[in-house]
Amino acid sequence: MKKIRKISLIALLIFMGALSIFVISFSNQLNCYFVRYSNFKQIAINVFVQLNMSHSDQEILLQKIERSKQRVRNLFGAIVAKPTIIAGTDNKRLKRFGLPMNKKSGITYKTLYGNFIVIAIDGLNEDVIAHEMVHAELAARIGWPQGLKIPVWFDEGLATQVDFRPQYSEEVWKEETNNGKRIPNFAKLASGKQFFVAELTTCRFHYTVSKHEVKKWLGKVGSKGLMKMIDKLRNGNDFYRSYHEVAEGNPRNE
Ligand SMILES: [Zn+2]
Repeated sequence: MKKIRKISLIALLIFMGALSIFVISFSNQLNCYFVRYSNFKQIAINVFVQLNMSHSDQEILLQKIERSKQRVRNLFGAIVAKPTIIAGTDNKRLKRFGLPMNKKSGITYKTLYGNFIVIAIDGLNEDVIAHEMVHAELAARIGWPQGLKIPVWFDEGLATQVDFRPQYSEEVWKEETNNGKRIPNFAKLASGKQFFVAELTTCRFHYTVSKHEVKKWLGKVGSKGLMKMIDKLRNGNDFYRSYHEVAEGNPRNE
């Protein structure tokens, strides 16, 4: 009897330990998931804001979301993702939803139980919101966990197709790459660690070159090719093989 009690206690401790590790590791995602039970208020379906957000900012947010959806539709043809959007007025409050203190725009979380877009006050514009919505759209279409395997340069390159901020423009690309002579090895920009480097100029450069590369690819394959690529990735095909196959197949002319 004593032995059974001892085993039960050990099992309970292991369970509690595993649960604590899970809660600590996924606390940001859990906070996103339970946002409706937080002190953020819901202002539309799947849209939550910090309580002190002014009425006019709330209006701007909803308006920008609608306009951003149009940009996403232009890219994908239609919207299938239903991300939860969490917007706030100060980064301190948004930190628990995973927005880094130094990030002033937005971030997207792709999880098994849905996609979450966290928007900071500086991100209340179509460039940031549409950009984040593309991440959510791609993730929703490819599914989980396959969506986590997409190289970051492709994910960001696609998101920046709807993000018209001047720092990622063709003019900047020409200047920064010496008109295409200085292109990085994209295979080395596949992980978040490789892509999101601390040095701002280099990090921006990664966005600019990825935007150009994906734009060139999309110009070749069209939206049909993008859909074909998504199908391949959803079915677990290798990314680089699919990327080249779709480009070579030139489905725009099929
Ligand atoms: Zn992004």
